[in-house]
Amino acid sequence: MSRKGILFVISGPSGVGKGTIKDLLLSRLTDVRLSISATTRPPREGEVAGRDYFFLDSQEFSAMINRGEFLEYAQVYTNMYGTPKRYVQDKLSQGYDVLLEIDIQGAMQVKTKMPQGVFIFIEPPSIDELAFRLSSRGKDSQESIAARLAASHAEMESLKYYDYVVVNDNLEDAVNKVHSIIIAERCRVKNNC
Ligand code: 5GP
Repeated sequence: MSRKGILFVISGPSGVGKGTIKDLLLSRLTDVRLSISATTRPPREGEVAGRDYFFLDSQEFSAMINRGEFLEYAQVYTNMYGTPKRYVQDKLSQGYDVLLEIDIQGAMQVKTKMPQGVFIFIEPPSIDELAFRLSSRGKDSQESIAARLAASHAEMESLKYYDYVVVNDNLEDAVNKVHSIIIAERCRVKNNC
């Protein structure tokens, strides 16, 4: 039976832990293909071009926008991020399930273009906990943390457009839940004919 892949979109406020959930999921699900995003953000220590992101300058990123090469793109705080369309389309049509780990603005664009995708919202246990996680990961300035927390209030409004919500109060539980969602979606009749 030929099967088209399923698009899984993991999204949620900055600092909620969706990157860690994605990494742990990928170590369990070796048959899922991860979409590598393009970004104008400079690489962090240890990040590898083509594995973590395609690191582009603003001109290169704008050229991709103008050529219509993004499925979605958004400015996330001070940098641009986008999902190259071609890879996602190719893998889905080859029958692979594809995972996107993107911000909420981007997820809402994908929802409009590919409403058949499975949209999973990762929710923080509380705003206080989110504030704590943002400060303890040590990646962001106080100013940037304040902006991320302010945005997260508005972002919670998008929850209603998602198919699933998983609260990340315990990392292993959260990964188990997202894993279960993927297994269940793969068993749906509509995804098998
Ligand atoms: P970071 O710079 O910490 O890797 O990612 C910052 C934010 O950008 C995270 O919320 C991450 O989910 C989001 N992000 C990563 N790739 C993409 C993308 O391709 N599109 C969008 N819209 N957001 C992305």
